[in-house]
Amino acid sequence: DPVLAIVGRPNVGKSTLVNRILGRREAVVEDTPGVTRDRVMYSATWNGRGFTLVDTGGWEHDARGIHARVADQAEIAVDMADAVLLVVDATVGATATDEAIVQMLRKKKKPVILVANKVDDIQNEADASTLWGLGFGQPWPVSALHGRGTGDMLDQALEVLPKFSAHGGLERSGGPRRVALIGRPNVGKSSLLNKLAGSDRVVVDPLAGTTRDPVDEMIELDGRVWRFVDTAGIRRRVHMAQGADFYASLRTQSALEKAEVAVVLLAVDEVLSEQDIRILNLAMESGRALVLAFNKWDLMDDERRKYLEREIEQDLAHVEWAPRVNISALTGWHKDRLTPALDRALESWDTRIPTGRLNAFLGELVAAHPHPVRGGKQPRILFGTQASSRPPKFVLFTTGFLDPGYRRFIQRRLRETFGFEGTPIEVAMRVRE
Ligand code: GDP
Repeated sequence: DPVLAIVGRPNVGKSTLVNRILGRREAVVEDTPGVTRDRVMYSATWNGRGFTLVDTGGWEHDARGIHARVADQAEIAVDMADAVLLVVDATVGATATDEAIVQMLRKKKKPVILVANKVDDIQNEADASTLWGLGFGQPWPVSALHGRGTGDMLDQALEVLPKFSAHGGLERSGGPRRVALIGRPNVGKSSLLNKLAGSDRVVVDPLAGTTRDPVDEMIELDGRVWRFVDTAGIRRRVHMAQGADFYASLRTQSALEKAEVAVVLLAVDEVLSEQDIRILNLAMESGRALVLAFNKWDLMDDERRKYLEREIEQDLAHVEWAPRVNISALTGWHKDRLTPALDRALESWDTRIPTGRLNAFLGELVAAHPHPVRGGKQPRILFGTQASSRPPKFVLFTTGFLDPGYRRFIQRRLRETFGFEGTPIEVAMRVRE
């Protein structure tokens, strides 16, 4: 999907506009300073066209109003985008911070839609017209809060948004398999990339112009080429005290979107952090194949080992299906274990279970463990089919709603029977009256 980024200085109403576009309730707007939002990219549709929305509204709570910083942060989102919504508060007019963002946008030469927000009624439409001076053509007067004018503005945005992203989405056909190496800062991503790449590294897709664009690297491992996506974000080593979470989430989501398999890197020399868990959750939600790599194993000792075992039992229990590899990016120890794990995960991700086999499995399962009777009724599974792969999704046609517990049971049995190591699976249900 093409990517549309929303940028603007703090408090112009970016989050409200995001919610408006996504059709969410206003309650989702978070005013609490310091709230870290995991997700900064959203799938959106307008008039039947899909696009990805990048929300820069969450990171600014800690930006402390330094103009250049705001523009700096926005730049990251703009680099990933195919078009930009620049949001300005029409009741205030253009401020120095707005000007800093404008300067940055001029250099980027991406299509910009100028959104004059907080135009709640016809009287203050005049406020918007002063924004012609910013040099991005017609300001679109909207009220993100009430929805006034947002439809026309979005029509225009989709008009200038290319049909396909210049940054390349997921190619379904052929080519090297795409890997997203993700993890919190300092977990060892850059070190691992260097160890894997050695000297055979080929850098691909550097988009002209800036140093901040996503770059993929082709790396040959065990005689096969793998495509590590968005490695610029790993190698760039951005140290931003402010907005670092925003940047990390953006990079993580963007990489996941382009990848087929994610390697979530965790380090054994420290306790799992909230950020580790957030990144893991993003990976699981993304529907990509998944491998967990525990890095810095050279620092492992008995105490850490005990701790890690406990941790895995607790925090990682819900991903017990992902292959795990212990490595040391520093010494290169076990680096050859990564590709077999990637292969296993991708194989599961690609799996298609023939309908006959699936129904034989379901028949046996239901015969041995029928659904419990609820209120005198017992829903039956008529048949099942695998609707899609990458990742595998199953649909069960039933005569009534299945208990969540029973669905989980089926899911567990599917894994026990067919493997699916390293891939999320989904079981949906279609009730036939
Ligand atoms: P990134 O931010 O995830 O890219 O992490 P880096 O690759 O920059 O690594 C952060 C720090 O951890 C650096 O000082 C590395 O030398 C160190 N490091 C990375 N991997 C290992 C490892 O396997 N063992 C040890 N002892 N240190 C490591």
